[in-house]
Amino acid sequence: MTTYLAIDLGGTKLAAALVKDGIVSARQQLDTQSEKSPEVLRQNLISLLASFHNQADQVVVASTGIIQDGLLTALNPLNLGGLDHFPLKAEIEAITGLPTRVINDAQAAAWAEHQATGGQYSNMAFITVSTGVGAGLVIDGQLQIGARGIAGHAGHTLADPHGPVCGCGRRGCVEAIASGTAIGQQGCAVFGTGCTGRDVYQRYLAGDEAAKQIVTRSATVIAQLIADLTITNDLDAVVIGGGVGLATNYLELVEEALFTLPAVYQPKLLPAKCSTDAGLIGAALWAQSCRQR
Ligand SMILES: [Zn+2]
Repeated sequence: MTTYLAIDLGGTKLAAALVKDGIVSARQQLDTQSEKSPEVLRQNLISLLASFHNQADQVVVASTGIIQDGLLTALNPLNLGGLDHFPLKAEIEAITGLPTRVINDAQAAAWAEHQATGGQYSNMAFITVSTGVGAGLVIDGQLQIGARGIAGHAGHTLADPHGPVCGCGRRGCVEAIASGTAIGQQGCAVFGTGCTGRDVYQRYLAGDEAAKQIVTRSATVIAQLIADLTITNDLDAVVIGGGVGLATNYLELVEEALFTLPAVYQPKLLPAKCSTDAGLIGAALWAQSCRQR
């Protein structure tokens, strides 16, 4: 059985663990909130991966953004800071001396959630509502990656043609209205500068009417995205994750909006099971399934 050194490179964290047959051990994590520079990431990778020397057969990475020709990119480069075009695959191969595969973190999480349900939903989507809005699709039991690694980036589908311009350059994307960042930006217009998505959410839970409108708009946009993905791909189930997606009462708001639509637009809606390890587990299980094919 192959032992994978799985790495999760997110917007605010860098985690690594050994994963064997979907079981995580020796997990370590660095907080990378403060600075997004290539040199800091290189040093963080070196220090984080040192303790895993000679313990794994292969490396697999679940990364924010898209990997094209081994370079880290993103539809929304603002999410990457100074890490746009970081040679992620080559750097990790140089540090570990091991063959390395990289996939998008939402795609990895989609595969982890698909496997966590025992593969019972052969057509499903995973949507994470977090700093951004990420998604991954499993169709006919296969994780969709795409020739350029972009498959499933449903956070950049259209929610409102008159909405704000998204970091990807298109106006009115789901991410530009529904993400935690967007919730914070809408909060700033009402509650003053410096307002975060978390602040707005706490005000919503405390009964503030303006905060409720912002959070409900986010949930309604996600419900419409679920409907679009369901009708396009004949989905059985949609799994919702992320800091906003799993926040108190958010899933209920999504359900409420979804229930106003005809039944054909309503898949089974489930909260994510794999929590913070979804990227690590999903990436390793995906690499394992690639080997078996
Ligand atoms: Zn966009």
